[in-house]
Amino acid sequence: MLTPRQLFLRHQAQTSDFPLLLEIERAEGVWMYSPDGGRILDLISGIGVSNVGHRHPRVLQAIQQQLDKYLHLMVYGELVQAPPAELAHALHQTLPPALDNVYFVNSGTEAVEGALKLAKRHTGRTELISCHNAYHGSTQGALSVNGSEGFKRSYRPLLPDVRHIRYNHLPDLELITTRTAAVIVETVQGEAGVRVPLHDYLGHLRRRCTQVGALLILDEIQCGFGRTGTFWAFEQFGIEPDILLTAKGMGGGMPIGAFISRQEIMQGFKTNPILGHCTTFGGHPVSCAASLATLRTILDDNLLAGVPGKAARFRQQLVHPAIRAVRGQGLMMAVEFESFAVLKPIIDHALAHEGILTDWFLFCDNSLRLAPPLTIADDEIDYACAALLRAIDAVARQ
Ligand code: PMP
Repeated sequence: MLTPRQLFLRHQAQTSDFPLLLEIERAEGVWMYSPDGGRILDLISGIGVSNVGHRHPRVLQAIQQQLDKYLHLMVYGELVQAPPAELAHALHQTLPPALDNVYFVNSGTEAVEGALKLAKRHTGRTELISCHNAYHGSTQGALSVNGSEGFKRSYRPLLPDVRHIRYNHLPDLELITTRTAAVIVETVQGEAGVRVPLHDYLGHLRRRCTQVGALLILDEIQCGFGRTGTFWAFEQFGIEPDILLTAKGMGGGMPIGAFISRQEIMQGFKTNPILGHCTTFGGHPVSCAASLATLRTILDDNLLAGVPGKAARFRQQLVHPAIRAVRGQGLMMAVEFESFAVLKPIIDHALAHEGILTDWFLFCDNSLRLAPPLTIADDEIDYACAALLRAIDAVARQ
């Protein structure tokens, strides 16, 4: 009888030669437990997913209640099912009134795909603009607007008519013209290593898009659902998108995503042709029930109010000669070291000897990712920081 680890390596497709290979039996709150009883503190939330912690009781209860009613019934957009309808309403209540129409999908990358199609359909234009070092997903359309050539080269040709601008670089906004269907940008860039918008960058970007009639798509797949301390990150920058993307933390651990826009824009999918975007599982009732419970937990438990203090608590303690900078917005943080060669042994040591799970970023390999559940307690933050500092010292001594 092969072990799960052997089966994983033999029969599950691998995406690198160095998977984490950590086996987890169960998870609760900020903790994950391995079969041998080991305890791991999750400081990355499945990459920004478990914002309300693992297996939040309210999320579990909502899932359980929906399991007792029905699972999948029909493809997206035909039957009236309470979970997606109520979730769409609850999302709208967190948003500026104009963003009143939600299309539910299965993942972040599918939200990107739907939004890019919608922008082309609405504007009748083809050019798409995104930022260098942007990450928007892995399917062909989303990959086309990713901002790293290294990840795209082997899969070309991708979508034509894609251009890239530098994030936070105002002169590049001139490249957005009346040819542009949409500009897609992460409100706070994730895989670039947590880059926050500076100098009213998003205000200038918003005005430029409006001026030339291009739609502004904000990707909040990683930075939304409370991660930065407001429900949506864009609330902190005084702008509104034409299309908003969400996924990851939205499901409280269940797979779901959405692109959200104005009804007037979204109705493009109804005609010429009908079924402009289709999905079998989009708006799955169990995922929607979990998502609604997640949204209500974030709001009812006032998790947003705790975010700045928790982020400050990390920053106060993460002081060490090897740490060059701590960047971030709320609990979306990056701790910068000199190089990957310095950082990687620290990540490995923290996991192996301290039971602390962290990570680096796809396009920024000298920085350590910190994105704990928003529910992390003060003593857990202190425990995490002390362990990380010990790991840094231990590696320095080697
Ligand atoms: N956009 C951003 C900003 C992301 O961080 C990710 C996932 N890392 C995606 C899109 C793609 O989401 P998914 O993996 O759910 O397809």
